[in-house]
Amino acid sequence: MSSRTAVGVLGATGTVGQQFVRLLANHPWFEATWLAGSERSSGRKYAEACNWKLSTPMPDAAAAQVVQEPVPGKGPKLVFSALDANVAGDIEKAFAAAGHLVVSNARNYRMDPLVPLLIPEINPDHLQLVPKQAEAYGWKGGIVTNSNCSTMFLAMALAPLRQFGLATCNVVTLQAVSGAGYPGVPSLDILGNIIPFIGGEEEKLEIEPQKILGSLAGTYVEPHPVVVSAHTTRVPVIDGHSEMISVGFEGTVAAADIRAAFEAFRGVPQELGLPSAPKQPLVYLEAENRPQPRLDVERDGGMAVFIGRLRPCPVLQHKFVALGHNTVRGAAGAALLNAELMQAQGLV
Ligand code: NAP
Repeated sequence: MSSRTAVGVLGATGTVGQQFVRLLANHPWFEATWLAGSERSSGRKYAEACNWKLSTPMPDAAAAQVVQEPVPGKGPKLVFSALDANVAGDIEKAFAAAGHLVVSNARNYRMDPLVPLLIPEINPDHLQLVPKQAEAYGWKGGIVTNSNCSTMFLAMALAPLRQFGLATCNVVTLQAVSGAGYPGVPSLDILGNIIPFIGGEEEKLEIEPQKILGSLAGTYVEPHPVVVSAHTTRVPVIDGHSEMISVGFEGTVAAADIRAAFEAFRGVPQELGLPSAPKQPLVYLEAENRPQPRLDVERDGGMAVFIGRLRPCPVLQHKFVALGHNTVRGAAGAALLNAELMQAQGLV
């Protein structure tokens, strides 16, 4: 008998689902015992149903499992969701109602006032909202979400700047094709090209950071006042979203203080030594032409955010570049870190 906690994955056959399966294969606390997919996959062996796209081999333990139907009450208590947002709303709610703790990547419940939009380095106290879901919605379980992948890297970069009176932010993203799931954007649309529109993405970048950076006030989150303006683009990169970020403050802030704040940034995951926690959540790269997706995105297991090119901005005050792994720190790895924090706090 394994001493690891049994967990399930909804949407285990998709782009993010495959990252869950990979990361869970060697996880010290969790074991993926229940993998679910759509009608297309359920009843088939995972090895046959899943169009595996990662560069590491499919884990043997997953390959042999039969993909399950997403029926609430059948899987383990802790369930990760990598479901398509078109179906996540109903399925995640049914799982939470039936007593599962759903740790989700989908957008559907992120802005629900009682659902934590959790980044454990930033707002671990927002987990206190979970028991309120039972009172308000009658769920026997609950839902915890992680942010949109681009929001993740932006919020992590902005978190240590709150102490300086962070007021405004302009961000331009260059997002990888894996961010659109599989098969995603047709090759003839993206090769040698940039698409200056990603449906719904700018709205997420403009509202999610305030909730993440906000403070818990009893039964709700008081949003942080930073105003964000976002342009989002899809570029011919496989993994890794780059973000060109400018920031403005209430007063004047020295570049050296910003740089020191990036490097000093740590949180509860680092204090507790959670298994998926990067040693340093924000890593500053000195070279003037870094970070780059091809060279940097896999470093530190894809769980750190890489920052570089801090320099003056003539419109706001300072500007810099950030890069993160969209399907790891921006999705499956983020949800794993969330669940590790929940386990450490006795919520699982
Ligand atoms: P994807 O590759 O299209 O995978 C979608 C998954 O949902 C598949 O496993 C699919 O199962 C399952 N599914 C679809 N319809 C279903 C149904 N009716 N019942 C049960 N399962 C169903 O998408 P993805 O890129 O992995 O994204 C998954 C979620 O994570 C989305 O909500 C997305 O917005 C979010 N997200 C993605 C990224 C990223 O970088 N890709 C980052 C952050 C968040 P079958 O294969 O069996 O059809």
